[in-house]
Amino acid sequence: MNFIIIGLPILVAVYLLLRKRNKNALLKDKNLLGVYRAILNEHVEYYQDLDDIGKARFERMVREFLQYVRIEGVGTEITDLDRTLIASSAVIPIFGFPDWKYRNLTNVILYPDTFNHEFQFEGGDRNILGMVGSGYMNGQMLLSREALVKGFSKPSGKGNTAIHEFVHLLDMSDGATDGIPENLMRHEYTIPWLQMMHQEMRRIEAGESDINPYALTNEAEFLAVAAEYFFQKPEQFKQNHPEIYKHLSQMFGLTPPDANY
Ligand SMILES: [Zn+2]
Repeated sequence: MNFIIIGLPILVAVYLLLRKRNKNALLKDKNLLGVYRAILNEHVEYYQDLDDIGKARFERMVREFLQYVRIEGVGTEITDLDRTLIASSAVIPIFGFPDWKYRNLTNVILYPDTFNHEFQFEGGDRNILGMVGSGYMNGQMLLSREALVKGFSKPSGKGNTAIHEFVHLLDMSDGATDGIPENLMRHEYTIPWLQMMHQEMRRIEAGESDINPYALTNEAEFLAVAAEYFFQKPEQFKQNHPEIYKHLSQMFGLTPPDANY
């Protein structure tokens, strides 16, 4: 009897409170999705070219990514545009693997512009626009907002710094940043892929390729630079580099495992 008088009203109150909170969370989620979708529609060409099923998958992957990776600004407030563009750069290289999680990433740290005065990780004289950490910086990605936004603007051409850095993370996920993302490709393709990289590096050296010469740094940079171009300008890439295009399509899970081989 006591329970009915005291306990029941408490239970009802708790139930109502939880229901309200749940509703609020759902509403917040729905609003956020609307915000992301508007930004994707305006800024992310890769998303715009997908069909409705693809768009829904992309949106889901963006939301999931933002749930497990923290994005922080250094001397700057993080905006929804920052969040959506960073998540898009993460999703594009793994779009063919919808369940992939970047287990080697916990934080993305966004700087307003370049940060070469603090870090010297990538390249000799090029300004540092992005990097993925190793050692004590493990799990951290540093990105310049200027480069992030530029990568998704019309004049960006074949380059996209943020996609470049996420491809490094994929490459790194097997323990070696060597241009051979073993988690993504079948073992028998690694030797042909290495040969293909070296052949194209010779062409770049001879001035016969339109792939950015930064790719000559090493195989890891070749993969990251070629992947930027592949995702940014797929048609142009296919036309100019049909064999590499086939390899990358397969590597990034965009063609059935045995197609064209
Ligand atoms: Zn790089």
